[in-house]
Amino acid sequence: MSDALSYSLLLVAAITVMILMATSRYFLPVFVSPIFHELLSFGTPAARRKSLWRARRELYKLGRYRFTMAVTALVWSLIVLPVFAFAPTPSFMVVGVSVALVLCPIASTWTNILLFRDELRTSLRKQLREAGVPICIACGYDLTGSVSEVCSECGTRIR
Ligand SMILES: [Zn+2]
Repeated sequence: MSDALSYSLLLVAAITVMILMATSRYFLPVFVSPIFHELLSFGTPAARRKSLWRARRELYKLGRYRFTMAVTALVWSLIVLPVFAFAPTPSFMVVGVSVALVLCPIASTWTNILLFRDELRTSLRKQLREAGVPICIACGYDLTGSVSEVCSECGTRIR
């Protein structure tokens, strides 16, 4: 591959990452709603974006989240490093860096969403309750019309 071509690829990768970062709050709720059904109970796409954003921000307060983020970054760097060490030609290295530039943020975002899905889910359920949607924080059961002290699905105290 020619140098010009590989550097163009790097430029495309950098632009792609910037676009992904700028727009992730719009498309991420769509991608994660199969995992977090709670999102669908928020009435509007704007409310879904806001609640997912807040749930992710709340994770930063957890010490073990920051620790896991650091470990994830380290692991992904270790996967990418061989590209620098063993690249046969400089243009091969540029291509490797371009691919890593796009894949690493996507991979770490998904790793963290999946590792902390329980915490994210709990935050979304709490936000739904704040918004007036009666839902069990423990199991997500819809408590509309329930007058009981405990969730009829899982038995968790709700009042
Ligand atoms: Zn329940």
